[in-house]
Amino acid sequence: MIQLFDSVYLLDGTVGKRPIYLPLLVGEWGCLLLDTGCSYHVSDLIVPALDRLKIQPEQLRYIVNTHPDSDHVGGNAGMKRWSPTAILCCGDADRFQIGHPDTLFSTRYDAYRPYGVFYPEDVKSGILKDLGEAQPVELTFRGGEHLRLNPNWDLEILSLPGHSKGHLGILDHKHRTLFGGDAIQGAVYRGIDGRPALCPTYLYPETYLLTIQFIEHLDIDLFVSCHWPLKRGSEIAEFCRETREFVERTEILVRSAGTDDLRELCDRLGPQLGEWPAHVHRELAYALAGHLKLQ
Ligand SMILES: [Zn+2]
Repeated sequence: MIQLFDSVYLLDGTVGKRPIYLPLLVGEWGCLLLDTGCSYHVSDLIVPALDRLKIQPEQLRYIVNTHPDSDHVGGNAGMKRWSPTAILCCGDADRFQIGHPDTLFSTRYDAYRPYGVFYPEDVKSGILKDLGEAQPVELTFRGGEHLRLNPNWDLEILSLPGHSKGHLGILDHKHRTLFGGDAIQGAVYRGIDGRPALCPTYLYPETYLLTIQFIEHLDIDLFVSCHWPLKRGSEIAEFCRETREFVERTEILVRSAGTDDLRELCDRLGPQLGEWPAHVHRELAYALAGHLKLQ
């Protein structure tokens, strides 16, 4: 567990061979957990950390999902079992997926099957397991709402779309910090060994570019994401620049490729876009489908 401030912790674990950081904000009026990891992170990571901090189930007031991916929502049912009074929240546009793992799988992970890009059965069953049991969302945000965990601790919910339509972030005014989930992704996800592990997985290039610009203009000192190292000061602008450059480079390559075949584009552009392992190239389907306007 990493302590960022007096009352702010990062629960650090791994998902596959990549790091995952789940922010926990501890206020005297209640606590907020941002994302619940995969289903197995509840017992492996989250509950042990809450126990260490001596946080009781009734103190957990909000569970906020940044977006509908297995490593962000998979622990929802488990965390609601641990704390039935915590309010499960997400972006309004993502509610239909987050509340229904089968829908989430078919409309997100399996959305490119018509184009010949889909996961083999063993990977599919792993994703469904990580997504956990269905858990209804209780409260949704569209961005602009404020939460208070202390009399003098104001948190603002931000809408940061692009990786999903309802992707949320939390702007902590007191600590001049943005908790941004996977809203912007640089040019690569690295493994815990520092090596390229996964390509960017944004879905909607236009809104993603607007989100990059929005984050770039925030008056913050610290950017906390779910899989990338902490970014401080000028590193935030640098990460925004790296994120934008990847999108622009991809757009140029897609436009000049001379084909709109998604599978062929993944295999052909993969080696040009990053140094991740070859099996990752098909994961470019999310971004490339966006550039091709298939979604
Ligand atoms: Zn993630």
